[in-house]
Amino acid sequence: MTQKFAAKRLDNLPPYLFAEIDRKKATLVAQGHDVISLGIGDPDKPTFPHVIEEMIAAVKRPANHQYPSYEGSLAYRTACAQFMKTRFNVDADPNTEVLALIGSKEGIANLFPAFVDPGAYTLIPGVGYPVYSGGGILNDSLSWWMPMTEENNFLADFEAAPADIVDKAQMMILSYPNNPTSAIAPPEYFDAAIAFAKKHDLLLVHDNAYCDVTFDGYVAPSILERPGAMDCCVEIFSTSKSYNMTGWRAAFAVGNADAIKTFGIVKSNVDSGIFTAVQEAAAVALTGPQDSVKKMSALYQRRRDIVLAALDQMGLEYQVPRGTIFVWVRVPDGFTSAEYATKVLEEAHVIVGPGSAYGPKDGEGYFRISLACDDDRIVEALDRMKRI
Ligand SMILES: *Cc1c(COP(=O)(O)O)cnc(C)c1O
Repeated sequence: MTQKFAAKRLDNLPPYLFAEIDRKKATLVAQGHDVISLGIGDPDKPTFPHVIEEMIAAVKRPANHQYPSYEGSLAYRTACAQFMKTRFNVDADPNTEVLALIGSKEGIANLFPAFVDPGAYTLIPGVGYPVYSGGGILNDSLSWWMPMTEENNFLADFEAAPADIVDKAQMMILSYPNNPTSAIAPPEYFDAAIAFAKKHDLLLVHDNAYCDVTFDGYVAPSILERPGAMDCCVEIFSTSKSYNMTGWRAAFAVGNADAIKTFGIVKSNVDSGIFTAVQEAAAVALTGPQDSVKKMSALYQRRRDIVLAALDQMGLEYQVPRGTIFVWVRVPDGFTSAEYATKVLEEAHVIVGPGSAYGPKDGEGYFRISLACDDDRIVEALDRMKRI
């Protein structure tokens, strides 16, 4: 750290790979260039009108202006449980098996103080959401990156973890449909992961942020549908991607009652819950009509197809996404991920995510395209990429 006031542990955080890209982008924009970003996973469409209407009414209710309940209102937790029942046919007790989160990123970061001792390990996906590794660094625990390669269909290989690491592990994190690879997991994979977690006394956390952003008729499961999952699993859901609500910060954890209780102890010590008006609006999103969610998936699927057709013309190799808002693409021969992302920015004025930002080893050699961008701009961006 160059700062005088900084804990030593912050030295262990990886360099922010987008910093160089952000700097170059600012220069290009200052020079008057039109830069298109396919780098960010933030839905470009607004939150659905019926959710906004509920928020407007909820904001006017004085009771909502006071501190919210730490674990989420019973009404919100009941809505979360109802979502689990309707969507997955999973039974969850709103009193003991559901906890409100201020977005899943907050929740994931707080998993570490709740479940992993300093010096102990978390098994994390070889490529994934950066807070999976950052959360451990911030509580002085360690990460072991499970191999995630094309050969294993990007299914994180927990069996590859050395015995001495597994002995010192307390938690394992998985996430399917997967950001950034867009891979999906078959039920047998979840069954094997549950068996592994039970054998080694691990809490198995499944981040299911993209369960309702899926294509070609694919219906993503909850890990809690699998037998025995409630014994060792916590699943994390977010309104962010399904309902275009990234700015609202509303998510929840559901699963093993003992773990939910522990998780709640940490959270009641560090935050004071989600604005109750947001909980009321999020409850409407989770339990109201889901046709807008299906329309969003259809929109992303159309954009996916535009992207895949262009990648075919460029001769680039990719995974065909069955879900998420991302396409994971091999960089052309002769470039690292960072070099290719820099070239695309400098010559095509297009931002893509360098694969190494999502996993230093398994992410190298790939880049990520986000589908959260207007169709016309995606077409324009890919035309420019074709020309370089
Ligand atoms: C976007 C995303 C989330 C959602 O994060 P929020 O904090 O709920 O907005 C969670 N996990 C993954 C893998 C994501 O890509």
